[in-house]
Amino acid sequence: MKTNDINFEQKLPHTLDALKCAQKRLDFQGYYTKSLFQERLGDSVESIESDIDISVSFQFDLEKRVVIEGKAGVDVVVYCQRCNEKFKKHIDVKFLLSPIKEIAFADKLPYDYEPILVNEFGEVDLVNAIEDEFLLSLPTFTKHDIESCEVPELVRTFGEIEEDTDKENPFAVLSQLKKH
Ligand SMILES: [Zn+2]
Repeated sequence: MKTNDINFEQKLPHTLDALKCAQKRLDFQGYYTKSLFQERLGDSVESIESDIDISVSFQFDLEKRVVIEGKAGVDVVVYCQRCNEKFKKHIDVKFLLSPIKEIAFADKLPYDYEPILVNEFGEVDLVNAIEDEFLLSLPTFTKHDIESCEVPELVRTFGEIEEDTDKENPFAVLSQLKKH
């Protein structure tokens, strides 16, 4: 381990001065408690099952921009959108963030960088940025892997577009009720 590594076997700071961290070329390893992610991520999944593992490094790129590169992982329980069964899933995200003072500067970043806003104290909110990454990856983890899904193959493929014109439209009952 390099001498300037900070190995938190504890909670990471919620916000950090990215410029100072980059000047010291800091690497962080640690975690955020899941309660910090309850409001947005917790609202989008059935439950959050683990604290959030983080590894992140601060440095400058060749054009002297501060960059925050890292990855984060969490276990969640979600409902499968195909078979409607709950299942547990590990989500990993990678991120490459560059701090900006105003959102207007976002356009000036290289396209594979994501902007992260600096607050009035010169700090960035890593929790918020990582939660964004998890939320952006949501559509890819709300279905079972195809082989473990409970819905038979035929239903999966054709069920939604099949039309059965002989059957009475179930909504016809509703419209009849409305007349009374
Ligand atoms: Zn399923």
